[in-house]
Amino acid sequence: MRELAHLDWPFLEERHGIFAAELDGWAREHVAEVHGPDVDAACRTLVRRLGEGGWLRHAVGGAWGEQEVIDTRAICLARETLAYHNGLADFAFAMQGLGSGAISLQGTPQQKEKYLPRVARGEAIAAFALSEPDAGSDVANLQCAAHIEGDHAVLEGEKTWISNGGIADFYVVFCRTGEAPGPRGISAFIVDQDTPGLEIAERIEVIAPHPLARLRFRSCRVPLSQRIGAAGEGFKVAMRTLDVFRTSVAAAALGFARRAMDEALQRATTRKMFNQTLADFQLTQARLAQMATTIDSSALLVYRAAWLRDQGQGVTKEAAMAKMTATEGAQQVIDAAVQMFGGLGVKRGEVVEQLYREIRSLRIYEGATEVQQLIIARELLREVRG
Ligand SMILES: Cc1cc2nc3c(=O)[nH]c(=O)nc-3n(C[C@H](O)[C@H](O)[C@H](O)COP(=O)(O)OP(=O)(O)OC[C@H]3O[C@@H](n4cnc5c(N)ncnc54)[C@H](O)[C@@H]3O)c2cc1C
Repeated sequence: MRELAHLDWPFLEERHGIFAAELDGWAREHVAEVHGPDVDAACRTLVRRLGEGGWLRHAVGGAWGEQEVIDTRAICLARETLAYHNGLADFAFAMQGLGSGAISLQGTPQQKEKYLPRVARGEAIAAFALSEPDAGSDVANLQCAAHIEGDHAVLEGEKTWISNGGIADFYVVFCRTGEAPGPRGISAFIVDQDTPGLEIAERIEVIAPHPLARLRFRSCRVPLSQRIGAAGEGFKVAMRTLDVFRTSVAAAALGFARRAMDEALQRATTRKMFNQTLADFQLTQARLAQMATTIDSSALLVYRAAWLRDQGQGVTKEAAMAKMTATEGAQQVIDAAVQMFGGLGVKRGEVVEQLYREIRSLRIYEGATEVQQLIIARELLREVRG
């Protein structure tokens, strides 16, 4: 069992410590080795195992009663732990949460009943379809449209970079419905994968392989009973969902960084050179000190934001700080680990090489670092200017 000292921090309750320690042991045995060239198959296996293990209930918050019971700290601990063992397992867990989050937060009782138990058992794979080819950071400008015909919405347009695209059983799709200009004219719909008019236009390969696709909607008819929340409220639904999961992206980055740190310590204390070990050099020690400090700063910001959210407080600024610091910091920590490994650090299949590829997109998705900076500054200035 690895040492998980931060579980004693005051942001976390005793049950969180027990949860994380149990997941750590389970993940080592059940998901650490699930890889392979067929990333769709690996992802399906991971979703099924996480469901059978009972862990996905935490991703969907167990929230199919009346109340929202999303435990942000449990989600963060789960992502940190899974990312430590296997990036694809973290992805599988996170996407079940992100893809069903809008339903958990604002779905009707029928929608919750229909989708959430299956997502939590790992029997249905979820996806969140917000980004478009011309609307990523500037997502309020999205153009995929839905017009109403009787008791159906008819979807036309594209979504891209959709995680689980191609293997998902349903997509939560955000479309322009035109009640008002900009963000107030967007609605959210649940689109089952076999709905006529929904096509997988392209499968996208990225440096750390995950199921990913561009979707096309052509006269795609969706019953209005599949709309999440009121007409025109979709952007709010998307932002509320992202508010929960933004902090968890930071937690995943933290998990990657912790793994890189452990790998680096192991290597530095065993690699012989110049009649010493790598760790005997002060240059190495300075680097290790920096890595450890970066990790603890990130962890403090992650669990502050998660704790605040679980207290029912707004976390817009704190989640942005956590995401920016943890993802940028993890990139530095992992890069330092690769450097310590020398040639081995860039050998395909080495843990630090995989981490180097895994971390990169976390600085881009769910709001690139520059977007987080703008959010933090906007909140600061609002506090000053009132
Ligand atoms: C692996 C992966 C998985 C993804 N999964 C999903 C998913 O499941 N669902 C989904 O809807 N989307 C998903 N996305 C999309 C992701 O959210 C977008 O890629 C992201 O929002 C950035 O949008 P973009 O790619 O269009 O880049 P752009 O919007 O073109 O931005 C490019 C760059 O511009 C810079 N930038 C942005 N705004 C500013 C600014 N104001 N000032 C200065 N610089 C700025 C940033 O560095 C940014 O990286 C995923 C992306 C990736 C890479």
